[in-house]
Amino acid sequence: MQLAILLVLILIAVLIAPWLIGVAIAAAAVYGVYLVAAAALAGVAFVVAVIWVLFTEKGRQEKPEEIHGERKACKYCQVEMAVSATHCKNCGQAST
Ligand SMILES: [Zn+2]
Repeated sequence: MQLAILLVLILIAVLIAPWLIGVAIAAAAVYGVYLVAAAALAGVAFVVAVIWVLFTEKGRQEKPEEIHGERKACKYCQVEMAVSATHCKNCGQAST
């Protein structure tokens, strides 16, 4: 799944790269090379940030229980839940 997202991003990058280079050259002629270089860096940083968020979000979804830490057992049905839980997910009884 992560590899598929990466391949799609690479495909998009390859498809728009020639157009992007043309725009960059035209913009460099109008606004100046340094401004366009700064904008390009910002664009690259944005793409990297998006990829980073996608990957960390995926990792977070795969192991949600580990983040909650300590567990306790429901005193009515003995089902495990987070220490911070106020109600049992199984029987619905309030937890102390
Ligand atoms: Zn319970």
